[in-house]
Amino acid sequence: MSDLKRINDYARKMFSTNWVKWVHEGTKPADTSAEKSANVLIGTLSKHCAMCLNLNGCCFVKEKCPQKPLHQNCHCYTINIPAITAKADCPIEKFTKYVFVSSLIDDKRQLFELWGYDIMDSKYLQQEFIKQAKLAYSVGDYELGLLNEYGQRINIAITLNRKDNNGQVTFRSGWMVYPNGKIVLTTPYGRK
Ligand SMILES: [Zn+2]
Repeated sequence: MSDLKRINDYARKMFSTNWVKWVHEGTKPADTSAEKSANVLIGTLSKHCAMCLNLNGCCFVKEKCPQKPLHQNCHCYTINIPAITAKADCPIEKFTKYVFVSSLIDDKRQLFELWGYDIMDSKYLQQEFIKQAKLAYSVGDYELGLLNEYGQRINIAITLNRKDNNGQVTFRSGWMVYPNGKIVLTTPYGRK
């Protein structure tokens, strides 16, 4: 896709995207992974559903939002919001201590090295993932992934230029949704 076409596409989506915010009334949204874990514990000790607690405050485009009700007696609802200010967090350890560490089962390092990237590119990859995910999420370019007691994950396509000038490679990355437009990288490389 040409840059101009991409910008037009982005603008069109931005103006046609309808956002909703998930509400579980009377509880505080979980802004950190520690708070999410606390909600999971609360879920096992009380009548509150951890899934609902951890969706509280999370924003989705209307047509890609978890389906209500999530369980019997689920009182969650969604409210329409004008737009989100997307924020993407991407821990650099996802590259330095995960992608670029060899594994016998699933060698992501080999793949990234085939495309011309090594551990020295971790900072670049981190910035690139943040840039692309933020843009994609802010126009609703994502697919719903796993939903469980920790919350909703979404999948976002990441495209990298191969350093051997052999075109580009596109793959799926996984992100956890946090309240108020924030997403955090969980899986840098998933299957296409
Ligand atoms: Zn609920």
